[in-house]
Amino acid sequence: MKFHNSIIETIGDTPLVKLNSLAKGVKGTILVKLEYFNPGNSMKDRMALKMVEDAEKAGILKPGGTIIEGTSGNTGMGLALAAIAKGYKCIFTLADKQSPEKIDILRAVGAEVHVCPTNVEPEDPRSYYSVAKKLNAEIPNSFYPNQYDNLSNAVAHYESTGPEIWRDTAGKITHYAAGVGTGGSMCGVAKYLKEQNPNVTTVGIDTYGSVFKKYKETGKFDENEVYPYLTEGIGEDILPKNVDFDLIDTFVKVTDKDGALMTRRLAKEEGMFVGWSCGSAVHGAIEYAKENLKEDDVMVIIMPDHGTRYLGKIYNDNWMKDHGFTETGSFATARDIIA
Ligand code: PMP
Repeated sequence: MKFHNSIIETIGDTPLVKLNSLAKGVKGTILVKLEYFNPGNSMKDRMALKMVEDAEKAGILKPGGTIIEGTSGNTGMGLALAAIAKGYKCIFTLADKQSPEKIDILRAVGAEVHVCPTNVEPEDPRSYYSVAKKLNAEIPNSFYPNQYDNLSNAVAHYESTGPEIWRDTAGKITHYAAGVGTGGSMCGVAKYLKEQNPNVTTVGIDTYGSVFKKYKETGKFDENEVYPYLTEGIGEDILPKNVDFDLIDTFVKVTDKDGALMTRRLAKEEGMFVGWSCGSAVHGAIEYAKENLKEDDVMVIIMPDHGTRYLGKIYNDNWMKDHGFTETGSFATARDIIA
């Protein structure tokens, strides 16, 4: 018989798929790593499991414990799967800009979810960072993984995602591109790949409204770079410990609109029904590739999650129109037709 002992054994070993239609006009090969093939439909399953197992080994997480995290949803899903397999409780705090689907999914797998205001400073007691910290202080035998500063996050990608990319490209990868949020998936993979071949170039994708690109270029934290934006999962108004700027060679900034439109094109033209930050990563990476890639180059772009979590937003024509994100062609959803 061939079976897994629990759902967490199915994490990893996701496929690399070539971009065809969207890579027209680019020299070299563009491959995307589809992380929605993980059981929680995102790459965050990898680091969630690693943070839990490292905490168990360190004696920080004990039987019957509660995992408390501030998460945009995907890390929560990964933590919930690990918690179910290992018998822990979960409480998550989310910013209210996150898709309602993400909140529903977390509740579906048994987690308690607290929704917090988006547009407050991280230090504000109402922010999702502060609420998670407060619950951690109040609840006995609770563990706050803190994905931003917990280095098990990048290590998970160093140990699994990076080696898979190196193996599946037979060492031919020349460029690696990833959206940067906590920095774990960019920097863990970048460290592994650069150890195999120091000539691998890494391209970080940042959002407008986030500090990363400017910080890389000036070494200064510029508060003027911080303003509200809609893209979920990438860009930050803090500098997480998992972001190692020495491992990111350059950054490309992508607008909410360009990311959203490219995500819809990925679904329509490549059959890849992926999340918003995937479109941002592909838009930014292709912009870079058009200028920089040569015929024999191989670029891998990581695609963090699945499209179901964005059905009410970027895959909904009315939502797109309301935000001025217009394009030709229709994506009317069943929900609109029923309405
Ligand atoms: N995209 C999505 C949808 C995410 O949830 C995240 C995680 N914040 C990222 C991209 C960025 O990944 P990382 O945290 O590894 O930088």
